[in-house]
Amino acid sequence: MRFAALFVFICLHSLSAFAVEFTVVLDPGHSPNKPGAISARGVPETKFNDRLAKEIARLLGSLDDVRVVLTRGPKEECGLRERLKRIHQADPDLVISVHHDSVQPHFLSGWEYQGKKLRYSDRFSGFSLFVPEKGYYAEISLMAARLLADHLIAGRQSFSTYHAMKIPGESRKWLDSKRGIFSGDFLYLSRNLKVPFVLLEAGVIVNRQEEKRLSDPAEVQRLAGLVSGAVAALRQRFENHRRKQPPQAPKPGDAGINHPKDIPASPVIRWESTQAGLEFALAPVYFHGRYVDRMVLVRADPERFRVGVHFSKEARSISDWQKRLGAPVVINSSFYQNDPLAPTTPILSGGKPLGPEKYRSSHGAFLAEPIKKGKKRFVLRDYNRELVKLEGSGYREAVVSYPMLLDGGGKVRAKPNPKWRADRSFIAVDRQGRIILGTTEGGFFSLHRLGRFLKAIAGLGLERALNLDGGPPACLCVRTKNLEYLALGRYESNDSAGREIFFWGPVEVVWPLPGVIALYPREPDEKEP
Ligand SMILES: [Zn+2]
Repeated sequence: MRFAALFVFICLHSLSAFAVEFTVVLDPGHSPNKPGAISARGVPETKFNDRLAKEIARLLGSLDDVRVVLTRGPKEECGLRERLKRIHQADPDLVISVHHDSVQPHFLSGWEYQGKKLRYSDRFSGFSLFVPEKGYYAEISLMAARLLADHLIAGRQSFSTYHAMKIPGESRKWLDSKRGIFSGDFLYLSRNLKVPFVLLEAGVIVNRQEEKRLSDPAEVQRLAGLVSGAVAALRQRFENHRRKQPPQAPKPGDAGINHPKDIPASPVIRWESTQAGLEFALAPVYFHGRYVDRMVLVRADPERFRVGVHFSKEARSISDWQKRLGAPVVINSSFYQNDPLAPTTPILSGGKPLGPEKYRSSHGAFLAEPIKKGKKRFVLRDYNRELVKLEGSGYREAVVSYPMLLDGGGKVRAKPNPKWRADRSFIAVDRQGRIILGTTEGGFFSLHRLGRFLKAIAGLGLERALNLDGGPPACLCVRTKNLEYLALGRYESNDSAGREIFFWGPVEVVWPLPGVIALYPREPDEKEP
C-alpha cells in the first residue's frame, strides 16, 4: 500500500498568528430564593459565590482574548435547566461553577452569633472539585480540575476529603485523591453539559474559621487570582499544543496500548475562517492526561469549493502538488501500488476512471461534482460488498477507500487493532453537507480509535467518515492568503510479539504521493449543474 524510494528531508511548519478566543463561563451556584448553604454566621452561600465569581470574572476579563460570561447576576433567579441553556448558548471552552461547602446536618452544632441561633461545624475545611466522570469532555474537565487544584495547593489552599467519607449523602468517588477531585456525575450540570466543566467548592462556610477567611476581601482576591491563573495556564497549554509543540512519537506500551477501549479527547474545536467558505482547525488530542496527538482539520462549504481528484505517474510531495495545482487545500488520496504507480482502489479524475476496473467494496467512496442538477455536491457513499461502478455514479470526481471510519448508522467499521498506530488521513461529510479533510501528526491513532474519536468528538457533527491512507503518506497542505500549514505524516508502528516496531521513525519525511484530493474555490458565476 505504501511504497516509495525517494526521501526528502525537510522541516516546515508555518502558521500565521491567529488569536483564538477562549470563553469561560462562570456559574455562581444557587440564586437569591434558593441560596444554598447557610454559613456559621448566617450568611447565605450565594453571597460567597457571587463575590468570588465576580472577582474571578474581573481578573479573567483583563486577559487578552479571554471572554467571560456569567450565568446569572447576583439578584437574578436561575434554575438548573436555564443555567444549562445559558451555558450552551455561550459556547464556552470551560465552565466553572462556583460554590461554597457545607456538611451533612448531623455534623452541625448550635451556637449563638450576634444574638442569632445558628449552626456550625469546625470539623471540616478545604476546597473540593467535581468533574464529569463520563462523556466526551471528562478528560478535558479532569485536566482543567488538576490544573486548578495544583494552583490552589501551590497557593496554600488545602483540599477536603470530607466528600469521600462513607456516610449517607457523601461517599463520593475520588477521581484524583491527591488533588481533592471527585466524580461529579451525581450533579445535574456535570451529567448534562456538553462542554468541559468543573465545580469548585471553594471552602467550608459552616466552619467558623474558614468562613472568616473566605469573607475577607483580600482572601477572595487571592483565591480568584489562583483560579484565574489556572484558567490562563490551561488556555496556554492548549495554545502551545495547538500551535507550537508538535506531538511526540507514541511510545511502546504507553497508555494508548494499555487502554485500548478508551477514547482520547480534544478541547472544544475552534474553527478559523481562512477565506470565504473555508475553515481550518488544529485540535490537540489528550489521552489519560497526556498530549498525544494533534489533528489538523479543514472544512469547506460545497457552495464555495469544488473537489478535484488527481493521479499522476510521477509522484510528488504534497507541497509540490499544491504548487502545481494552485489549490488552497491538498490532501493525500487513497492507497496505491508502485511499479507501475497506480491506484489500488477505483478513482474518478475529471470523469476519467483510474485504478482497478473490477472492484468489490464493503466500505465506501467519496463522490463529488455531480454531472446532473439536483444532486448533493459531496457524498460519502457506503457499499455493501457491491461492485463499484464509478462511471455510472453521476459524479465526475471520486475516490474509493477503506475502512469506513464512521458509517451513516453511527457505526465504526474499522476493526479493533490497537497496536497498529499511525498518522492518519481521512475524508468526511458533516450533517450540513460540508466536506471535512483531516490528518493527524502524532501517530497515536489506530483506525478503530480514530473512528470512535470522530464519532465522539463534540461539535464536529460528522455524518460519515472514510479513511484515506496512513503513515508518512498522510499529508495535508493548506495555503491561503493568511494561512499556511503543512502536516506531514511521520509515524507508523505495529506491535508484533509484544514489541512495538516502528516502520517509520521520528524523522521528517516528505513522502512522494502519486494521488491527491484538492479543494478549489468555485468560480463566482458557477451555477449548480
Ligand atoms: Zn452550593
